[in-house]
Amino acid sequence: MKFVPHVIDGREVESLDGKRFQSINPYTRKPWAEVAMGSRMDAERAVVAARRAFDEGPWPKMGYNARAKILHRLADLMEKHVDELAEADTCDMGKPITDMKVADVPRSAHNFRFFADFAKLASAESFPSDTGHHMYTRYEPAGVVVAIAPWNFPLMLETWKIAPPLSWGNTVILKPAEDTPTSASIMAKLALEAGMPPGVLNVVQGFGPEAVGQFLTESPEIDRITFTGESATGRAIARAASANLIPVSFELGGKGANLVFADADLDKAVPWSIRAIFSNAGQVCLAGSRLFVEDRIFDAFVEKFVAAAKQMVIGDPLDAKTQVGPLSSETHFKKVSSYFDAIAKEGGEILTGGIGDGWTVKPTVVVNPPLNSRAVREEIFGPVVMVNRFSGEEEAVRLANDTVYGLNAMVFTESLRRAHRVAAALHAGTVWVNCFFIRDLRAPFGGVGDSGIGREGGSYSREFCTEPKAVVMEI
Ligand code: NAD
Repeated sequence: MKFVPHVIDGREVESLDGKRFQSINPYTRKPWAEVAMGSRMDAERAVVAARRAFDEGPWPKMGYNARAKILHRLADLMEKHVDELAEADTCDMGKPITDMKVADVPRSAHNFRFFADFAKLASAESFPSDTGHHMYTRYEPAGVVVAIAPWNFPLMLETWKIAPPLSWGNTVILKPAEDTPTSASIMAKLALEAGMPPGVLNVVQGFGPEAVGQFLTESPEIDRITFTGESATGRAIARAASANLIPVSFELGGKGANLVFADADLDKAVPWSIRAIFSNAGQVCLAGSRLFVEDRIFDAFVEKFVAAAKQMVIGDPLDAKTQVGPLSSETHFKKVSSYFDAIAKEGGEILTGGIGDGWTVKPTVVVNPPLNSRAVREEIFGPVVMVNRFSGEEEAVRLANDTVYGLNAMVFTESLRRAHRVAAALHAGTVWVNCFFIRDLRAPFGGVGDSGIGREGGSYSREFCTEPKAVVMEI
């Protein structure tokens, strides 16, 4: 069986106590890799390595150009190793291999290229003064950044979390999710091959609560925590970080509203809405899991939507044709399945879908669920969409905003004025009009309410990863 090590201080290593755990392939439901299980001692040695690499190593001082060269080389190597990286996430969590090859791995390489170049090209402010002084801002690396990642887009979100701090000269300790350890260790090995100095990118494998994840966040030797995961975990990490006043950036859960107005072009709205809820088997923070359709087109839309949901190819994620693989783990499969009991109890009509083979849930469409039911209010994180109707713009906005989350929303309409009005009225970090999942890495990304703290992307990432210093000089 494959062994997945930690990568600490430039070396692939076992845990100091020799403990390992298994990564289960959710399609075969059998272990496919053995993984080093980090303890407090492994968290500590990663912190020591990252601290030393920052305080004494060349990385923070080598300059934007030299760092960018290494990060571009890493991106090249990731593209060269696309098959190995794609297999890693597919076997760890069941994501269709075609998605990995076409989307996740190329985007992961792009994350490094983009932030390496953005950091190099960004200008810094200088302020003309009336007092005869020259003032300017220096963006200095913050230090040691702990990045804690979820399992739903393992490699893609890990690179999104670590590319900015690395580009601005920080050192990093990455803790991948325990369900998806493999691609992170491969990437860290490739970073060494690309010429990244030891200790700059460390990967510590293991669990979260009462384990390496928590121990890393409790360390007084770190300078930043960037986290993507559940809102409840965000609360626990915020408590740990507050003890040492460590700044945090959180990208948390979501329950995205998708508003389809009667004037929408259904040939666009149906395929985008399908993609918004069923890609990655609905295990997407940005999923359009609350679908609201205007009265006048409700039946016509639902008919087309259900027909499209039935067309999706379910199966072995290693098969290039598969669009919906299994859910990521047995625990997660049980969690998603439990919502079918909740729907049976609380209401809503299931038009298509249900539980499939193994740990698979078929694309499921539920119409007219009560708005206060668990399945409408809670993040299911599976291929299950709750469809309700609305009449008029005001009701649409009210329904969309009736949630503790606020990561994103979608609006389908052919009216330009309505599109701008509704986009402005929605409480969300991102609003997509007549599209979904289109990203530009310069734009702010994050959520309001329980969906997060702070923004990442472009200059927003720079704010978080650096300590801006004001220099004031007498002329
Ligand atoms: P999770 O919160 O269970 O775990 C995420 C990571 O946190 C894992 O690496 C885990 O080991 C670690 N962890 C858990 N408890 C910890 C603790 N006390 N201290 C330190 N680390 C700890 O989330 P998940 O189930 O892996 O991911 C799914 C969640 O992530 C969903 O809620 C989804 O919406 C959210 N998500 C959000 C975004 C976004 O951009 N907003 C993107 C992807 C996923």
